[in-house]
Amino acid sequence: MEKFIYDLSVPGRRGVDMPNSDVPETALPQEYLREDLPLPEIGEPEVVRHYVRLSQLNYAVDKGMYPLGSCTMKYNPKVNERLCRLPGFANLHPLQGAEQVQGAMGMMYELQDMLAAITGFAAVTLQPAAGAHGELTGVLIMRKAQLARGQTQRYKILVPDSAHGTNPATTTMAGLEVIEIPSAPDGNVDIEALKAQLDDKVVGLMITNPNTLGLFEQNIVTICQLVHAVGGFVYGDGANLNAIMGIVRPADLGIDVMHFNLHKTFSVPHGGGGPGAGPVGVTEELAPFLPGPLVAMDEDDEFYWVVPEQSIGRVKSFHGNFGALVRAHVYIRMHGAEGLRAVSEDAVLSANYIQALLKQRGDYPIPHGDRFCMHEVVAQGKIAGAEGVHTLDIAKRLIDFGYHPPTIYFPLIVPEALMIEPTETEAKETLDAFVDALTDIAREARADAELLHSAPHTAPVRRLDEVRAARQPVLARHAEE
Ligand SMILES: *Cc1c(COP(=O)(O)O)cnc(C)c1O
Repeated sequence: MEKFIYDLSVPGRRGVDMPNSDVPETALPQEYLREDLPLPEIGEPEVVRHYVRLSQLNYAVDKGMYPLGSCTMKYNPKVNERLCRLPGFANLHPLQGAEQVQGAMGMMYELQDMLAAITGFAAVTLQPAAGAHGELTGVLIMRKAQLARGQTQRYKILVPDSAHGTNPATTTMAGLEVIEIPSAPDGNVDIEALKAQLDDKVVGLMITNPNTLGLFEQNIVTICQLVHAVGGFVYGDGANLNAIMGIVRPADLGIDVMHFNLHKTFSVPHGGGGPGAGPVGVTEELAPFLPGPLVAMDEDDEFYWVVPEQSIGRVKSFHGNFGALVRAHVYIRMHGAEGLRAVSEDAVLSANYIQALLKQRGDYPIPHGDRFCMHEVVAQGKIAGAEGVHTLDIAKRLIDFGYHPPTIYFPLIVPEALMIEPTETEAKETLDAFVDALTDIAREARADAELLHSAPHTAPVRRLDEVRAARQPVLARHAEE
């Protein structure tokens, strides 16, 4: 068990040496004082070493490859961090008047504009705090647009069976009904099954393209036309935008509304790295329903806040996760249009390189390996000759090799899924070493399955009760315990 700061406490130890007071002593208001404040007593070097050690127990993209499929764990450029900490950004108060924060509003205005240019949408809100929050925003917008036309009978949201769990969760939170659409054997949406559900009860379809099998949905234009023909909208789950920037604009395919995960595609840190952001883009038709306020610019180039006429209302206090917006803005400006296209091309190339190596070595089946993948590849932890070994064992053993495991058991439609997303920021040598590790693990699995069943062996903690950790997290420990 890792040492807790109180375990290091020795009565009388001090980390600071206070100068003698040069002002008269005054009694503190007694009602605010505690009888007893059990702070740890500890020297400065021990404190520093304690926290540095804790930071090193954690895995991070600054430490090694993080091929967590669907999450786009790309390297976070440090210039983003420097610029979002500029005092002019970091010290703003969200209640300052527009005339005092023109620079920040200008940054937001440009970001709205750049995201619209990348994706082809007419308008963008920066408010949602994450992808899932963007989904809720988008579904409420689709719904409100239909209610504004008097279409109160609609209640169905169609969701392919390869979708991320947030899509059905969003649907339920919006008070609508999820209808699952199966995938065809080639990994695309089953068009006949989709048609069977299309009627005037449909609010819309939520679709991820490239989908979570790492495949480009080849019938996307037809799918959008079919949904539009019954008066439905198409929601694009933009988590996989890293595969298509500068290559295709989702709005041109027929998508009506879509979120962008700034903490995936646009290099903002995520997970434990801080808050993310899930801006949402919409077509001209849906723009009047966006949450407000948005940033607009008048003829004197002054920025002002505006709430669209039929807005669904606010979805977040103030103006979203502002620091995340600055980081994404910096990232986009640093790359430029051609640089963003290169990001996507390299991300797709990296994933296909891994797919090709895995196919060549033949240890891990790739269900759709006959197609080129996009920015991620879905393999299976089914090693011939090691039938008792499962994807979970392989993932845990990768930790011993110094890698964060890929996403596992997702998408749900691929048994024993290992979903690998290398991103464009990994060097070829890193990709080679990662595949070598998978090859070594396959060899170990055949020779000594127990080694995998009991992995990880070198991590600070072994196998955890992950369900309990999620349901009953212990986030603080107190001195008296
Ligand atoms: C990450 C992800 C989401 C949810 O985004 P968050 O920012 O984590 O809320 C939705 N769909 C897909 C496919 C994703 O990968």
